[in-house]
Amino acid sequence: MAERTHSSPVTAVDTYYCEQLSRGIFSIPQCTECGQLHFYPRVTCPFCHSFALRWTVPSGRGVVYSTTVVRRKNGDHNVALVDLEEGPRLMSRVVGVEPHKVVIGMPVEAAVQEEDGEPLLVFVAPRSALNEKNGGKGGRA
Ligand SMILES: [Zn+2]
Repeated sequence: MAERTHSSPVTAVDTYYCEQLSRGIFSIPQCTECGQLHFYPRVTCPFCHSFALRWTVPSGRGVVYSTTVVRRKNGDHNVALVDLEEGPRLMSRVVGVEPHKVVIGMPVEAAVQEEDGEPLLVFVAPRSALNEKNGGKGGRA
């Protein structure tokens, strides 16, 4: 099984994904047989096993499914599982809001940031969501 001399198709889809991210484009594979989108990028559709995949740019809108705070000497950051509007769930982080203020069910939007010279997919909370969380001081009936 000396298959290592050829670059594997799995590496190729990862490479394509990262190249797109470095151009500021968040794209994920979509199956042209069953129409489902999936993430992380795979060579075959995880739903129907078809090889007929194409890259598509999702809306970027999603909802926080779960969230945690990673504590580091140089500052805490958030790690979250986000359910995209189109279905796939992916691990990322929510930025632009204090890590502990990220809550389950919070609407978020994908953004591409650079960290240590590498493109990184993150999520930001739309301003309307932040206002909802912070604005309602004593406003409940
Ligand atoms: Zn499929």
